[in-house]
Amino acid sequence: MPNRARFLDLLTHQASARREHDSRFAVLMIDLDRFKHVNDTLGHPVGDQLLRKVADRLTSIMRAGDILSRLGGDEFAVVLVDADPSAADQLAQGIVENICELPFLLDGQVVYIGASVGIACSCNDGDEPDELIRKADLALYAAKADGKGRLRRYDAALNAASMERRVLEGGLRQALTNSELELFYQPLVDTQTGRITSAEALVRWHHPERGMIPPADFISLAEDTGLILPLGDWVIRTACLEAASWPDDMSVAVNLSPVQFREPGLAASIETALLASGLQPDRLELEITEGVLLSEEDQTLATLTRLKAQGVRISMDDFGTGYSSLSYLRRFPFDKIKIDQSFVRQAPEDKECAAIVRAIITMGKCLGITTTVEGVETQEQHAFSIAEGCDNVQGYHISRPLPAASFAAFRQTWKTDRRLRTAA
Ligand code: C2E
Ligand code: CA
Ligand code: CA
Repeated sequence: MPNRARFLDLLTHQASARREHDSRFAVLMIDLDRFKHVNDTLGHPVGDQLLRKVADRLTSIMRAGDILSRLGGDEFAVVLVDADPSAADQLAQGIVENICELPFLLDGQVVYIGASVGIACSCNDGDEPDELIRKADLALYAAKADGKGRLRRYDAALNAASMERRVLEGGLRQALTNSELELFYQPLVDTQTGRITSAEALVRWHHPERGMIPPADFISLAEDTGLILPLGDWVIRTACLEAASWPDDMSVAVNLSPVQFREPGLAASIETALLASGLQPDRLELEITEGVLLSEEDQTLATLTRLKAQGVRISMDDFGTGYSSLSYLRRFPFDKIKIDQSFVRQAPEDKECAAIVRAIITMGKCLGITTTVEGVETQEQHAFSIAEGCDNVQGYHISRPLPAASFAAFRQTWKTDRRLRTAA
């Protein structure tokens, strides 16, 4: 099968031939979903076998004359000759359905994967090979962002979105050197004592022109570009330094991205931050989502175990969404489960949500894991959380995330009116 270089040659050849005959062609970029998982769990020989089977299937649904190529990894591309946009859509749809719906039999195991497809057409998107590849790539990227197992045709809005991302990426690089990032702190309150036991560090970006940008708008960009590594490092160092000035019985919680766990140096850089700040390890909590445990599990568990051995505490964040596999709780001794905001948001009125919160709290008690209800916005939700016996509450009802200085001031006033708050 042609590789990337050969694909470019063939595409260039098609482009000039088609120009002479004034006929249309399309470029399809195909990326497999969950291929990495197959490779990681069943081994590379099985991964190779899967790639060959995918290639066979793609060949079987293409027309003679179309060109299939493997660009590398689990990425394939097709040049569709004499095709208008609707023919390209049709083939792309066929590919997505075929790969997603029919399982593969590999080494006696039934394996389901998926495929996402990005499309660029010579009639709409120009006939320069490089340009078509770039546009089909952008469309593929958007298809994956839409939720995988989808196809997407290039349009001008994608170009605008990609420009916007590139501008934001440049800005984020500068944000790190220009000190435009700041950590806000949101308190967690112990439901038994009414004391503030810890605060979660939440990053904010003060953009010189756009004002404050919330993490939802730049964390995934930082993850995609690798900027999460220096950014995450900054967050850890800053949070440890700040927390070292808090009362001794108060910890700080830091969010970690799955991308940070792919770096072998993570444990060492956390240890360095602890040493440099003088913060006791048991005053640092790391919040991870199950995304962290989905890939590279061995290395991740090794990192978590090493940190835990030093006294650092590990929390499972956003519990109850995603897979919420209970086996994660068995494989690693988490110290805390944070129940996803979406459940308490509708409790206590919504009986199902209330039951889920209750069940997670009970499970935590049985496993000896502390539970936090986060996203508590109202008096009712606060009272409900206390009544259900959760250990900590966090949310706007207690306080929004605050800049370091305001958080210090908040701690002072909290001491005086905490009875009032928890009595409710
Ligand atoms: P998260 O870890 O689940 O953090 C809780 C989010 O819920 C925060 O949003 C917080 O401001 C918000 N929140 C807290 N209480 C309430 C409430 O009562 N009502 C409502 N509606 N919202 C509440 P924020 O600060 O915008 O952060 C969003 C997400 O960005 C975080 O979700 C976390 O996943 C990520 N994030 C924030 N800082 C960092 C960081 O330093 N590193 C990494 N990797 N991710 C971060
Ligand atoms: Ca969190
Ligand atoms: Ca959370």
